[in-house]
Amino acid sequence: MKIYKFGGASVKNAERIRHLADIVAQETDDLMIVVSAMGKTTNQLEDFTQMLYPDAPFEDRDYNCLYDQVVSTGELQSTRIVSAYLNHAGLANQWMDITSVLRTDSTFREANVDIATSTTLLHQYLSAHPAHIYVTQGFIGGTADGLRTTLGREGSDYTAALLAYMLDADSVTLWKDVLGVYSADPRKVRDARLIHEMTYAEAAQLVEQGAQIVHKKTFQPLLEKQIPLFVKPFLRPEEQGTWIH
Ligand code: ADP
Ligand code: ASP
Ligand code: MG
Repeated sequence: MKIYKFGGASVKNAERIRHLADIVAQETDDLMIVVSAMGKTTNQLEDFTQMLYPDAPFEDRDYNCLYDQVVSTGELQSTRIVSAYLNHAGLANQWMDITSVLRTDSTFREANVDIATSTTLLHQYLSAHPAHIYVTQGFIGGTADGLRTTLGREGSDYTAALLAYMLDADSVTLWKDVLGVYSADPRKVRDARLIHEMTYAEAAQLVEQGAQIVHKKTFQPLLEKQIPLFVKPFLRPEEQGTWIH
């Protein structure tokens, strides 16, 4: 099985979702597809929650719990749309609610994943719902009492790595709006160089220095199981992108 992760920019409108289906159609291996909320939906849901309780301090546990219940709907919605469209396009798939599978503690907004329990739940789910393609949410999880949690902003890359770890996947591909990983943010640094191959340590160091291209928690699970990570250009899938291993 391979893990494909599509960020917000890759599902921001109907045209992009059609293009996503073209990419999925090219893959012959079984797939677990991880999807973010459409476009900037998470920011909007965050603003909305803030508007409800403008004076709530960031540490307020009830506020953070409410935040997670509201903000997590962005991914639940986008994955419903992507799954329905793939089915429509002849790419039969199973929509998976990851909040019943990715078990976390109740540190709302920065939840910690219980890998052992999640691994059991995930394998039980897959056996009960056999499919060649699954579509599920990045960024969110769930507690034992059925509340939704989030893993920290930009956490979908990390979800993809966790699923790869738990499934012993062959690879993870993050489909992004750049040609791959560059020596610096290509939107800010004009002579940034595209890097076609790097080690996990080199990639982790780049992120540690502030490159917001891959969520920083993504590397550890992959390194541990030696699962290769590809950063590929969503709009130009024929380009090689970056191979991190
Ligand atoms: P996703 O849609 O998967 O969430 P992100 O927006 O989080 O993707 O990451 C892609 C963005 O990361 C690019 O648009 C780019 O501006 C930025 N970026 C920052 N540093 C780098 C880098 N070193 N190489 C490539 N992109 C980078
Ligand atoms: N949708 C979430 C965010 O914008 C998670 C992600 O995209 O990785 O932070
Ligand atoms: Mg991101």
